[in-house]
Amino acid sequence: MDPERLDHFMARANAAYYAARDPFADFTTAPEISQIFGELLGAWAAVVWAQIGRPDPVLLIEAGPGRGTLMADALRTLARVAPDFASALRLHLIETSPRLRAEQARRLPGAAWHARLEDVPPGPAILLANEFLDALPIRQFVHAAGAWRERHVAGHSFVALPSPLEAGNLHEGAVYEIGEAARDWTAALAARLIRQGGAALILDYGYAQPQFQDTLQALRGGRPVSPLVEPGTADLTAHVDFAALAQAARTEGAHVWGPAGQGDFLRALGLRTRVEALARQHPARAADLAAGAERLASPAQMGTLFKALAVTSFPDAPAGF
Ligand code: SAH
Repeated sequence: MDPERLDHFMARANAAYYAARDPFADFTTAPEISQIFGELLGAWAAVVWAQIGRPDPVLLIEAGPGRGTLMADALRTLARVAPDFASALRLHLIETSPRLRAEQARRLPGAAWHARLEDVPPGPAILLANEFLDALPIRQFVHAAGAWRERHVAGHSFVALPSPLEAGNLHEGAVYEIGEAARDWTAALAARLIRQGGAALILDYGYAQPQFQDTLQALRGGRPVSPLVEPGTADLTAHVDFAALAQAARTEGAHVWGPAGQGDFLRALGLRTRVEALARQHPARAADLAAGAERLASPAQMGTLFKALAVTSFPDAPAGF
């Protein structure tokens, strides 16, 4: 078999993986750690809705909703603190996995599903995406003997084939990653927001400046495995290049905020106040609530590696930035 470019391999492997497996057996995401994550993101969306003039109806879109936990937590809070927004919003979910769609349908009755952002109907929109872009395919270039070679997959090993990329002045073994899919997706999102109004909040793990490191990783059963295991048996991810996303959105004329560390972002939205209020209501859960918040926000855990980036059609700062 001919060597397959890494991004093509990764797209194929993840499509098979998300279609057939329960990803949550392999990794835990922020909304699965604490209900406060979805609650604060719901509050963020309500503030944005006011910033765009309270359109009714308005689309609330989530890309890659997983089990639907984030959105269920957000909607429960909105019904209580922002009933006008709760009744104006129309829920649209971008999800390719039939299995996860079924799980989302149980928690989010009344939603509409789409395979791609382009399929979501027009209108002012607020979009949330947590740990979505890290699953999109990347290309990798390896710097060796003064030239860049592009990583391909041949059977169960990597091969590096000649590439026309300019060599530059980098150390031997440097790895340059390009997330074309994430970049193009963000550009399309920004173009939509500029045309129709709205804002997006992207949260993921990644870097604010190029690292020249290999960030491709594979998880199976919660453990790191080789990315070259049988396609579809492990979750393949890469760190998100936030500078590239910001650039892509700005090129479309959108306003970009952050990236901010997830810890700073959640604290600015009132993480501590929410932990204290919930702990007063449920004293038996106080320690769990504090531990969950700590995991999301502390620099040693998810507080700095994970970042938040907002894209808006309007020039004012959205909440948290
Ligand atoms: N946001 C959720 C789930 C993250 S896992 C959480 O925080 O828990 C990634 C999600 O994106 C899954 O729902 C997966 O099925 C979906 N997904 C992955 N690749 C996709 C693609 N190319 N198009 C649409 N959805 C995708």
